[in-house]
Amino acid sequence: MRVKIKKHLHNLLSLFYPQSCVACGNTLQQNEHSLCLECMLHLPETHYHQEINNPLQLLFRGRVQVENIASLLFFKKGNQVQKILHSLKYNGNQQIGEYLGYYYGKQLAKEAHFQEIDCILPVPLHPKKMKLRGYNQSECIAKGLSKALGIPYCTDILVRTTFTDTQTKKTRFNRWTNVEHVFAANNPEQITGKHFLICDDVLTTGATLEAAISKLKNAGNPKISIVTLAVAN
Ligand SMILES: [Zn+2]
Repeated sequence: MRVKIKKHLHNLLSLFYPQSCVACGNTLQQNEHSLCLECMLHLPETHYHQEINNPLQLLFRGRVQVENIASLLFFKKGNQVQKILHSLKYNGNQQIGEYLGYYYGKQLAKEAHFQEIDCILPVPLHPKKMKLRGYNQSECIAKGLSKALGIPYCTDILVRTTFTDTQTKKTRFNRWTNVEHVFAANNPEQITGKHFLICDDVLTTGATLEAAISKLKNAGNPKISIVTLAVAN
């Protein structure tokens, strides 16, 4: 009965406020969530999770030890992925993060090398930014991954410490010094011997992730894998 009422309410609401596809703007059908079927079918997926030695592995070679790394989508300026990320970060669309996190989690669950994860760690936002935005977009992705993989996510192990300026227009070295002290690793007793899956919205230079991983490695030398919603290409 409750389901029926919920469905009626959904129909009624969508009559007045029809939801539209984040990527193309078309009105969504009742069985579609955030993205229309047409856009879902044409998502520029990397399929990197199926390759252990994918191009993303090279990004961290000689910097920090990473077990597995994968991104769901290719990000290009102006493509539908940019619209998805924008909606997730700036339009309060937490649902799209959780939805695509779940979608990718179901794919990761089929790969043997993503089976031994103990806990998912979303890259944290600084508390000031969190207060402004009201949510952490990486945590939305973590929720979806967690549901699909049946693995918990945790927000009190990897935490943010200081506020940083925007990352653009800086060299890799400057970026590194800029982000080096941004993270802290709490609860070392929960870190040693674990395999963490760090998740974030978009992978660019990897400087932020490298800083986060270094802190975790120093605190208890855990195994680290990485999943992001998109990678710049
Ligand atoms: Zn669409």
